[in-house]
Amino acid sequence: MPEYLDEVLRQCADDDEGALADYIPELAAVDPDRLAVALCMPDGQLYGAGDVDALFTIQSISKPFVYALALMRHGLDGMERFVGVEPSGDPFNEISLEASGRPRNPMVNIGAITTHALAGEEGAAKEDLFEEIRRGLGRFAGRELAVDERVFESERATAHRNLALAHLVRSYDVFSADPRDVVWGYTRQCAVQVDVRDLAVMAMTLASGGTNPLTGDQVVPRWVARQVLSVMSTCGMYDVAGDWMTDVGMPAKSGVGGGIMAALPGFVGAATLSPRLDRTGTSVRGVRIFEKLSREMGMHMMETP
Ligand code: GLU
Repeated sequence: MPEYLDEVLRQCADDDEGALADYIPELAAVDPDRLAVALCMPDGQLYGAGDVDALFTIQSISKPFVYALALMRHGLDGMERFVGVEPSGDPFNEISLEASGRPRNPMVNIGAITTHALAGEEGAAKEDLFEEIRRGLGRFAGRELAVDERVFESERATAHRNLALAHLVRSYDVFSADPRDVVWGYTRQCAVQVDVRDLAVMAMTLASGGTNPLTGDQVVPRWVARQVLSVMSTCGMYDVAGDWMTDVGMPAKSGVGGGIMAALPGFVGAATLSPRLDRTGTSVRGVRIFEKLSREMGMHMMETP
């Protein structure tokens, strides 16, 4: 397996299409050539190749996990009152709202910001809510995760659009917290640092009905893992969700830090890192690697075994 993964990276290495995310200034400063892949099996066995120790910010890949925490607090029906589950087909930062003020899904920013606000106790201080989320993300990964303070500061200082989205949802009373506090916490959530092995374990936790394969910790119940994977499969890849599902065929989530994470229920959790992004904010070489893995390892979930 390690030799195969090395070979996959070698075949994708020369592709320098795409560009670093620069709307968050600090993300434009990362090494664009970093390249890594990791797989986690149901028994916790990890395989990796490339820059497996490189730390990067989780960004939107945090969204499914915070959705999981919010589901635990509000239940399936409770959560659906606040945030829908329909794919919007929109870019990540679109104003994707139903007439009632309910965000269409928890994967686009407007839904993820709302979900962040709903993940903690009503009235909790922003620091406490964030700590609860950081600890929750750590349970999915099987280790404590830290925040990249430079990326956090850089995004916070330029978060005008996310602030606008938060104020808009707040105007419909979907949550009660101060929108500035919610964006503070959401931005910190996005600045949590991971490596590809962390993401592969986090994916395998979802793909194991909520049980972390390394620690044996039941992080969330099975119904939560199922709901999160379902929403990832329709909404996780934003406006390329259809292309991704047909070409790769796994519930997945991308992030503008260059990560992609995908989960094949019962079989594997997988993650890639390559920071150059296409126009939709998706890692170019990450997609190439997943297309290869899906084809060559039979990982497409719609493939008849
Ligand atoms: N922190 C980023 C934002 O809110 C996340 C976007 C992404 O990774 O798709 O703009």
